[in-house]
Amino acid sequence: MEFAWSNEQDAYRRRVSSFIERTLPKDWWTNYAHGIGTDAQLFYSKIFCPALAEEGLLVPQWPKEYGGADGNPWQQFILAEEMWSWNEPRGGQYMGVNWIGPALMRYGTQAQKDEHLTRIASGNVTWSQGFSEPQAGTDLAALKTRAERTNSGFKINGMKIWTSYARRADWIFLLARTGPERKSISCFLVPMTSPGIKVVPFPGLVEEGHLNEVYFDDVEVPESALVGEESKGWDVIRHALNYERVGLPRYHWARRTLDTAVAQLKKEGRFSDPIVRAAAGRIVAKCEAARLLTYLVVHQRITGEDTVDPNVQRLTAAEACLDLMSFLMEYTPDCLAGGDPMLENFYRSQIAATIAAGTYELQLDLIAQRGLGLPRGH
Ligand SMILES: Cc1cc2nc3c(=O)[nH]c(=O)nc-3n(C[C@H](O)[C@H](O)[C@H](O)COP(=O)(O)OP(=O)(O)OC[C@H]3O[C@@H](n4cnc5c(N)ncnc54)[C@H](O)[C@@H]3O)c2cc1C
Repeated sequence: MEFAWSNEQDAYRRRVSSFIERTLPKDWWTNYAHGIGTDAQLFYSKIFCPALAEEGLLVPQWPKEYGGADGNPWQQFILAEEMWSWNEPRGGQYMGVNWIGPALMRYGTQAQKDEHLTRIASGNVTWSQGFSEPQAGTDLAALKTRAERTNSGFKINGMKIWTSYARRADWIFLLARTGPERKSISCFLVPMTSPGIKVVPFPGLVEEGHLNEVYFDDVEVPESALVGEESKGWDVIRHALNYERVGLPRYHWARRTLDTAVAQLKKEGRFSDPIVRAAAGRIVAKCEAARLLTYLVVHQRITGEDTVDPNVQRLTAAEACLDLMSFLMEYTPDCLAGGDPMLENFYRSQIAATIAAGTYELQLDLIAQRGLGLPRGH
């Protein structure tokens, strides 16, 4: 079995990293990448993404008819690794590119494809994801936001929480209840400028402005906002979440951050301690395990295999991140007090590594039930 990248893939990675290096501002780490979803980062993503699209690097894996290059999932993955190791200069754009766009390709009407796919492919639109509610996170089917039929479409009432990027997003991919059954949920494409939408940012550990509550008060949307069949949104969600859950190459960012921390320790003459070296070595091993598992999952996606490996991969990557956070606190604690901004960024952003896109415990549950065949608890 061959584990190395092909020459063509190596060349592709060099193309991506050289684009990033020549395009990002020199003060990227200090003035823009200070946390994910901050104003500065989102502002910059609106310059960076159209440039990336122009270079043919925003949606290379999409079909040509939607503005892509008929590339393969490996290219998409190399791109994601390089972007995450720079603290995601695409801002929230990866959502539109990685799963909202593909969900529309599969379930959208021709008019929805025409309206949205070209805009996502040009890098000129920011999406947010309106799924979670205060009592409906892991148990998403408990959501209460409802969409009631009107003469011309639907009227939406309710609220969402934890909505990343909502403050600066142009659209929201929204889940709302459209029937009495627990799973009677539908997906809607809603412009954030619609009358009746109010966004309230709230402070959190992952930098100011990233997280928001979004309120819907009699928000009217036309019939054409519905994605797929009414009350059959679950299929669309499953498709979308499948893409989201493998989408984040956290291990790549972790490796880069570890290298930076180790360089700092070496400079200060503190990396000869065998305890420090062993701790760093263990993190490298976990990152590599997460990397190989991720590649396996990408391969399974190409071959259409349905396994619990994506859940195992999420756990492994999250553990690598948690270990690195402990390492940073132990050996470079100044990173949270005016030290290296790249280390601080990693620490703050990865606080959510075991929560966002499905919690650590949920992954364990899924592995127990689907992988080991254990009975479902109560
Ligand atoms: C940084 C960040 C960004 C986010 N961005 C978005 C976004 O853009 N859009 C969006 O819709 N949501 C977003 N979320 C929300 C995220 O998807 C939820 O936080 C997550 O699904 C968990 O839901 P919850 O917070 O309601 O916790 P709960 O589901 O209430 O869980 C609380 C605790 O109970 C445990 N638990 C719950 N159910 C089980 C179970 N069956 N078995 C074992 N343990 C269980 C959980 O593991 C957790 O430890 C974001 C969250 C974070 C932290």
